[in-house]
Formats: sequence, structure tokens, C-alpha cells
Amino acid sequence: MTVPAKVDRDLCVGCESCVDVCTQEAIAMEDQIAVVDNSKCEECKLCQEACPSGAIAVEEK
Ligand code: SF4
Ligand code: SF4
Repeated sequence: MTVPAKVDRDLCVGCESCVDVCTQEAIAMEDQIAVVDNSKCEECKLCQEACPSGAIAVEEK
């Protein structure tokens, strides 16, 4: 099973690419770091593919 996208705050560079690609509007910026709203995320992994720094991942559990 997959869990909602998670952001590694140490790796996020605040580029907002993930915000742009998320079709669920599940990602917002807070203090220039991406934050995922777990209730909206549908685990599509588009943000993971778009992130240039590998900061956001949808994990298999
Ligand atoms: S996995 Fe998909 S729905 Fe979830 S935050 Fe990333 S782009 Fe949005
Ligand atoms: S795409 Fe990656 S580096 Fe850019 S804001 Fe999102 S999590 Fe941060």
C-alpha cells in the first residue's frame, strides 16, 4: 500500500514544481517548503517525478 507524499524538509529547495504538477491541489508552500495535505493526496507520484532535488516521495509501505 502507498502512503501520501512526504517532503524531506532538508532537501526541499522551494522551487514549487510539485505544487504546479499536483492535480489534487494537495501541496502548498509554507516558509518556502512544500507541505502536503494528506487528506487530498492521491499518491499519483507526479510530484515525486517533478521534484529536482528528490525531496518529495510517495512511499510503498
Ligand atoms: S502524489 Fe500526486 S496527489 Fe499526492 S501530493 Fe504528489 S502530485 Fe499531489
Ligand atoms: S518540487 Fe521538490 S524542491 Fe521543489 S518545492 Fe516541491 S518538494 Fe521542494
